[in-house]
Amino acid sequence: MNHDACVSGVELLMDYLEGVLPADVRSAVEAHVSGCPRCVAFIESYRETPRIMREATANAMPEDLQASLLSFLRERTR
Ligand SMILES: [Zn+2]
Repeated sequence: MNHDACVSGVELLMDYLEGVLPADVRSAVEAHVSGCPRCVAFIESYRETPRIMREATANAMPEDLQASLLSFLRERTR
């Protein structure tokens, strides 16, 4: 599996992780990922993202700041 094939595989990985691929494409992606540490790392970071996002918004955005940011954005987009 060469570099270009892996990059196109990474693009497919998004669809693969969303579960929207046809079965034949899906099994081809699975066959590639099983032999590709880079794609495995991509999948792991993709699965980490929602947790990271939740922690970031929970920790870094107090409710009063969130409210003032929202009103600021409403002013700007009016
Ligand atoms: Zn790969």
